[in-house]
Amino acid sequence: GGFAALGLAEPLLRAVADLGYVKPTPVQQAAIPPALARDADGADLMVSSQTGSGKTAAYLLPVLDALCRQAVAEPVRESARRGRGPGRGRFEPAAPQALVLCPTRELAQQVAHDAVDLLRHTRGLRVATVVGGMPYAVQLQRLAGAAVVVATPGRLLDLHRGGHLRLDAVQHVVLDEADRMLDLGFAEDLAEIHRLTEGRRQTLMFSATFAPRIQALAARIMREPQRVAL
Ligand code: AMP
Repeated sequence: GGFAALGLAEPLLRAVADLGYVKPTPVQQAAIPPALARDADGADLMVSSQTGSGKTAAYLLPVLDALCRQAVAEPVRESARRGRGPGRGRFEPAAPQALVLCPTRELAQQVAHDAVDLLRHTRGLRVATVVGGMPYAVQLQRLAGAAVVVATPGRLLDLHRGGHLRLDAVQHVVLDEADRMLDLGFAEDLAEIHRLTEGRRQTLMFSATFAPRIQALAARIMREPQRVAL
């Protein structure tokens, strides 16, 4: 089966075709259907995957699918309208619906780039990157009205503490390279982000291994995750 058999929203299928993807990779084949699960909310998943496996699209496609369907249901979000109102002295804090957490700036920038590619036929869903080492002002400007935020955990919390970013509208959280985030000492930041997004519907965790410390993290922040091992 190709991507159409997965039941993704039409604008995403067109983007995938533009990118020249003909067939889902094994991790996409295994992770996308349970992550979509539209009758209930998509499942929480723990997925073992390596770089180069197509893991980025394996989580972006189901998350963006949910946002596309929601955007059709409610075309202009109130917070986005307020955030972009002309002539206002202050921006409302951004209130993204999807959060992708990455261990490094480079990975976050790559993921954000892939998300923009996949949203090329979708209107009204914008992507922002929140990483260290980029001027604050530039990030704040792009953050206003963004539906998808791709971030490193520390910088995300900095912007939240500064009042620039609300996390209570987040519905989908993805942890990419969760093992590397733990290696880099982000465990407490991840726990804090978990607490700030407690109303979310779905958590997707991607990691090279299911080592005990990854399982401990999952037990802390996920609800009965299904495992996808490849
Ligand atoms: P990733 O593992 O997410 O870093 O993806 C590795 C590379 O595979 C990236 O260059 C993607 O653009 C590409 N890719 C992802 N999914 C597919 C697919 N289904 N068919 C062909 N290439 C893909």
